[in-house]
Amino acid sequence: MYRQEPAKRVRAIDSKKHWAGVDFKQLFYPHRLNFYNTPPTTEITLDEFEQWAIDRLRILGEIESCLYRNMTAAELQDVIIKKLQKDLLPLGANSAAGGGSKFQDSKIAKQQDERRKDHYSHYTLRLAFARSEDLRKRFLATETILFKLRYNSDDTQERQAFIESLGFDWEFLSVEEKVAMREDLLAGTGTKSNEADAVFEAGFFRVDWEKVYDLVDQRKVLLRGGKAYVPESQQSSLVIAEFTARLEKALEACLLPPQVFSSRRRNRSLTISTQLTARALPRLDEDDRLIPILNHLSRGFIAPEYNTSMTATTLNGASLTAAVIDDLVQYFPMCMRQLHTTLRREKHLLHNGRLQYNLFLKGIGLSVDEALIFWRKSFSRIDDDEFQKKYRYNVRHGYGLEGTRRNYKPMSCQQILTDRRPAANQVHGCPYREVAIDNLVVGLGTMGVSDRDVIRHVREDIEAKKYHVACSRVFEHTHAKELKREKEAGGWSGGLTENIIHPNEYFTRSFGLKNPGSVEATNAIAPPASGGSGQSMEMD
Ligand code: SF4
Repeated sequence: MYRQEPAKRVRAIDSKKHWAGVDFKQLFYPHRLNFYNTPPTTEITLDEFEQWAIDRLRILGEIESCLYRNMTAAELQDVIIKKLQKDLLPLGANSAAGGGSKFQDSKIAKQQDERRKDHYSHYTLRLAFARSEDLRKRFLATETILFKLRYNSDDTQERQAFIESLGFDWEFLSVEEKVAMREDLLAGTGTKSNEADAVFEAGFFRVDWEKVYDLVDQRKVLLRGGKAYVPESQQSSLVIAEFTARLEKALEACLLPPQVFSSRRRNRSLTISTQLTARALPRLDEDDRLIPILNHLSRGFIAPEYNTSMTATTLNGASLTAAVIDDLVQYFPMCMRQLHTTLRREKHLLHNGRLQYNLFLKGIGLSVDEALIFWRKSFSRIDDDEFQKKYRYNVRHGYGLEGTRRNYKPMSCQQILTDRRPAANQVHGCPYREVAIDNLVVGLGTMGVSDRDVIRHVREDIEAKKYHVACSRVFEHTHAKELKREKEAGGWSGGLTENIIHPNEYFTRSFGLKNPGSVEATNAIAPPASGGSGQSMEMD
């Protein structure tokens, strides 16, 4: 999906000097959790570099959106753990792999691959997000939550082994100290009398109070002489605070020294090291394959990138013809409704609007023949001859039947939000970003949204530039009854609380909720290039 440009000329450097002290070797990951202290140093392909980071970014973007929508910790955990396990960034426990037999060896190999992806994707996003204060903050906050979710869901013994491997300089109180301070420790940590003996037996750490700010805030530690005395049961707060502190420091260091990239043009693989990053930046700037990827990734917080391999939709039993599009508009997100309404009113759409809408219709299953009928009838002010000359080619081009014959994907929210913003007389793009708020409220009214609270929240989302969150909020409101029904029935595979990140996903979820049992989400199914709907072909 990204254009892979040939690498630029790279300035000749003294590689011996440049790479001095960097040890290039494959790492073994003994633990599921990772503090990312050691940079990766082995080769990965450019595609892995990009795709792994996109997968991680989808998780971080979802975490941010969940927070923004004030989800409870339990809801957030539910959404993110499901997403992690699906296929984006699963991390198996050591106990799940075992060891010994051939079968178990393959499990260990898979587990190492998962951990490798986790490691590399973290470092790639460090590079992408180390560039501005705002991005650094958002990366830090979402990575911390991701770590916390994984930490809390880890196997107890494996988690303890991981903590021991970190070699923290926490001071355990000796038995004598503990006994001497018993009353103060129990009172200062707010320990209930029925739990006192167990807490006292488990022991206490002594750390700088800044490291456990949240525990100080909750009055769960004893403060004395600039130190916090923390019960062992609060260990997770310490570990998470340490993770945050180290990452924050590393991100600041990235400003001066981020990463070293050595690219190999022929086999499209690259070597990454995070040491000596000050030396890396000039080289990064010279490699025009990596900079566009990093720039693209750094825009990922606007709306997460959509994973096209996961979704395409067929409407079971529904013959998707040009004639039924008007009936399907009720399931469209606002961007596509706006394009459809303008097309019906003006009997015309400008180029970018046609491009956006044509690919969307292709994504919902309209064949190219039906698309040609749809566009021909819609452009009712022109004659056949003009349509054939000016527009037929573009429609077919979107289906990969003209020009370079590239099979274009329907545009994701991220593409719509960041590419080709509309001029005054154009209606493509995302209305939550492009339309004046008062006009948008009118548009929301036509979608059945008149609830003042919802509109107020949508306004706030827009002010915070969370356009896809506004869209998700509208989706949830307009499908509240159906979502409740699905939740009570045990959930629908499309997810109830995940954010909308693709107009076609909005359509699929909306149609599926309003017409239970009628949507089939399959892998890589797109509308047929020709003929009736129902056949499939790969989306590239
Ligand atoms: Fe369309 Fe995405 Fe904007 Fe919703 S957030 S209106 S689906 S571009």
